[in-house]
Amino acid sequence: MPSRVLIVEDEPEMRVILRDNLEFEGCEVIAAATGEEGVRLALAERPHLVLLDVMLPKMSGFEACRKMRTSGVTAPIIMLTARNSELDRVAGLELGADDYMGKPFSIPELLARVRAQLRRGEQAARAPHELVVGELEINLKKFAVRRQGRLVDLSAREFDLLRYFVAHRGEVVSRECLLNDVWGYHGVLLTRTVDNFVAKLRKKLESDPQHPEYIVTVHRTGYRFMAE
Ligand code: CA
Repeated sequence: MPSRVLIVEDEPEMRVILRDNLEFEGCEVIAAATGEEGVRLALAERPHLVLLDVMLPKMSGFEACRKMRTSGVTAPIIMLTARNSELDRVAGLELGADDYMGKPFSIPELLARVRAQLRRGEQAARAPHELVVGELEINLKKFAVRRQGRLVDLSAREFDLLRYFVAHRGEVVSRECLLNDVWGYHGVLLTRTVDNFVAKLRKKLESDPQHPEYIVTVHRTGYRFMAE
């Protein structure tokens, strides 16, 4: 089955370039010229990946990204933008984007990142299972986590982070690994982004977030997810 990619981009030439290259890669492409249309198609067509321009008329790419995530779109989102400052990257990643490409970008690099995100999505779909750790019941297929039997409300990114911890339970994982593997991020390392997300996750999962039982800090290195 070909991967379905949604392009949200208001510049017609850029839409054509992206469409041609993705179709050449064997993807099925759907395209929107506005953020509103992008959100609608992301919900209606269930793409495997979204390429989302930040600078769009009316609804910005950031707002579209937030809307997609809050309405349950879990597909990876790669933001495309001419604005390439650290602030924008942080804003995009915290709103639930998975990767970032500053314009102008090289098409081979973009395609490499598209392939990486699609592979990650396929792996997630192939390895569904349920897991119990202490008071936590984690269903990786249903994107559901319960603590003491009660459903915990996690954002798509928080869930991805938890899934990564679960896959590497018992191991020490560095912030850099988390940024690369969970955020798909190879540029400037924003390790405080990782720390912010770990803090949010602890608040939701730990009975005492100040003294975590599940996601413990490994001094100067990163974190370890405690299994059993
Ligand atoms: Ca634009």
